[in-house]
Amino acid sequence: MTTTPTADVEATLRQIAELTAAGCQIVRVAVPSQDDADALPAIAHKSKIPVVADIHFQPRYVFAAIDAGCAAVRVNPGNIKAFDDKVRQIATAASAAGVPIRIGVNAGSLDPRLLARHGGATAQALAESALWEASLFEEHGFTDLKISVKHHDPLTTVAAYRALAAACDYPLHLGVTEAGPPPQGTIKSATAFAILLAEGIGDTLRVSLTAPPVEEVTTGIQILQSLGLRERQLEIVSCPSCGRAQVDVYALTAKVSAAFDGFPHPLRVAVMGCVVNGPGEAREADLGVSSGNGKGQIFVRGKVVRTVPEAQIVDALIDEALRLTETADTD
Ligand code: SF4
Repeated sequence: MTTTPTADVEATLRQIAELTAAGCQIVRVAVPSQDDADALPAIAHKSKIPVVADIHFQPRYVFAAIDAGCAAVRVNPGNIKAFDDKVRQIATAASAAGVPIRIGVNAGSLDPRLLARHGGATAQALAESALWEASLFEEHGFTDLKISVKHHDPLTTVAAYRALAAACDYPLHLGVTEAGPPPQGTIKSATAFAILLAEGIGDTLRVSLTAPPVEEVTTGIQILQSLGLRERQLEIVSCPSCGRAQVDVYALTAKVSAAFDGFPHPLRVAVMGCVVNGPGEAREADLGVSSGNGKGQIFVRGKVVRTVPEAQIVDALIDEALRLTETADTD
């Protein structure tokens, strides 16, 4: 989700471009004012990835988002049913334009009656609330819906999505809300997503971090890659270091990571702190280094190809990576 004021078209498009470059495939923008709604046509038109308008309470912004060419709208009909006939009108407009609606139920915004009935924002309360929201559209024959039920606690989140998946066939958007800053937010999100995705639950996801949105995207991509659900790009396999280490493994790994940042081929690069166990531990890597005595043994596909002074390790790894990928390109 973008963090710029949506009305600032230039800044919002710049941030969407950054997110797209980081691998984001769908982006949501907040629409809390008329100025934000007015910015949607330019943003939806110029963004390279689908734009979802996030709207609370204001039916007229929903119509504006649909007219603007947004790919989807996030709105809870429970928030707008007090407006005469507006849910039906939104269902009609969204249906005519082929624009899906995402219903997003969060623990913090549950109906007080549901909270009282369930004794709090339980998983069952979240699922029940979402299904009730969906029924408000279903009454008008509109079922092009996607649903999220987010909680800050990963296990409650998992239970809520399981309950929802058992009760309906709608696509589900995964999220652990208010997960906090990294690494806490990262770990909470990964915990919930791994359980759910392994069970086949979840169609899109957003990692919510108290951190710049590019970090949310890279975290989400790494979770998907770790689960084998998205093709891995570059992977750094580095040892945790131990009493045998003959190099500062943390510093060397940071240098290697920085040097390979943005490398366009899906290589696995190992950084190992000693020559005794290094290559053996990194047998699965495409290339890597084992360090010892101020030198680095550079290995490619399990075989040591040269030994270089420690200061030349990073350059040597890049050379070998280029050689490897050139060979692959001409195969
Ligand atoms: Fe320790 Fe060497 Fe293994 Fe790194 S590769 S954890 S330094 S034994």
